[in-house]
Amino acid sequence: MELHEIAHRVKCDFYGCNNLAKYSFTTKGLIKRDLCFCEECLRGMYKEISKLQTPKGIESPFKLKKRLRRGDE
Ligand SMILES: [Zn+2]
Repeated sequence: MELHEIAHRVKCDFYGCNNLAKYSFTTKGLIKRDLCFCEECLRGMYKEISKLQTPKGIESPFKLKKRLRRGDE
């Protein structure tokens, strides 16, 4: 899966969004076509994803250690 910045003008694929898409998400055949979305929707998606999976980079080392220990139990 790859995330690209797109140069051509296409509309954002998100329902109800009328912005021009800035990025496209390529899955190489996993979905019918590339998903195109604007910066606003990318941020919205990122927010939702981070609720499920917190990127390790923004977590403090202390919290991370705690989680690893819990995993050992
Ligand atoms: Zn959008």
